Amino acid sequence: MTAVPVFLPGSTIGVMGGGQLGRMLGLAARRMGYQLHSFSPERGTPAGQVADLEVCAQYSDEEAVRTFAKGIDVLTFEFENVPVESIEWAAQHCVVRPAGRVLEVCQHRLREKTFLKAAGLPLPEFVPVESLAQLEAAVAQLGTPAVLKTAAFGYDGKGQRKILKDSDLAEVWSSFAGQAAVLEAWVPFERELSVLVARGTDGATVTYPVCENVHSNHILDLTLVPARITDTAAEAASAIAVKAAHALELTGLLAVELFLLPDSTILVNELAPRPHNSGHFSLDAAMTNQFEQQLRAVCGLPLGSTELLRPCAMANLLGDAWEGGEPDWAAALGLPSVKLHLYGKKEARTGRKMGHLVAMGATLEAAEALVRDAQARLTKRGA
Ligand code: AMP
Repeated sequence: MTAVPVFLPGSTIGVMGGGQLGRMLGLAARRMGYQLHSFSPERGTPAGQVADLEVCAQYSDEEAVRTFAKGIDVLTFEFENVPVESIEWAAQHCVVRPAGRVLEVCQHRLREKTFLKAAGLPLPEFVPVESLAQLEAAVAQLGTPAVLKTAAFGYDGKGQRKILKDSDLAEVWSSFAGQAAVLEAWVPFERELSVLVARGTDGATVTYPVCENVHSNHILDLTLVPARITDTAAEAASAIAVKAAHALELTGLLAVELFLLPDSTILVNELAPRPHNSGHFSLDAAMTNQFEQQLRAVCGLPLGSTELLRPCAMANLLGDAWEGGEPDWAAALGLPSVKLHLYGKKEARTGRKMGHLVAMGATLEAAEALVRDAQARLTKRGA
């Protein structure tokens, strides 16, 4: 049996993607004495700002990918939409974790759903759609409301249309411009949850306490941990996440987004084989944050404790908060147990994730009230 490679501090981690998830991985890597190289098509990215080396090239640039891979020990990802071919080039020169096949599944909604179904995981009913006739048949089969989603490259509700009884299907289909899609049954969920699971090279897993997620305009707004659900529901949610990680034979971190229904059924919405926005609470409120956990998993090290230190609330900070000028940082930080994280993005656009706030409290309610207070203080200029 060949030994599974372990990468100790001093090794070089490569990350595909230049966003905030790569930045926070880079900070965790630095803290533990690793080097981090980032690869993305842009320069001066959130990840690149904290990297030892920022490579700026297209993911399809074979020579650049191969050169990057030769300069690192292990490659990982901060977003899943990297072409699988590029990952295969890299895998000829360095260890890649999670494996390219995991990204191949998770970067395509239809492949992901088909995989989850075959693995026996519970998910909303779905029907592949490639034409208007198929859309009409799918709507007749699943009924309304339903959601049409692009099969590839969707996130934060992009590439989605809700379909109602009187929707003009021809218009909806034309707005998809011929892209392959999936029609999904509408889920009348009671809560949205997520579970972060890490799986090591030896198949060992750890899960974080279940997150409860509140979205606004399809973008994550607030995460509460631990989720306000029964222990039975929390155990069921965690078991689904562990099952998904094993089914994928994952080495790394996986976020499993879930719907909890009023009758306690839990369905998988989608997977992300990387740290996740809902896991940002762990930077301040867990024994091991999700980025250190990703690092441990992909380096072949033992996984860290996922213990929650205190009930906690995380609120995203979108570019919208800059509409009336620079947010009032001092006012928010006037709440002494609120933590501010900013991602180093120069341009604040509506809906763009610029940073987040974390608040902890003696109770979840206290933490939520605190983070909402901090959020409000940021934009309450001159009040
Ligand atoms: P997604 O990009 O698939 O994660 O969807 C973004 C958000 O849209 C989810 O977090 C839900 O709030 C909502 N959503 C997606 N699919 C459904 C569904 N089948 N039923 C009800 N709400 C949904």
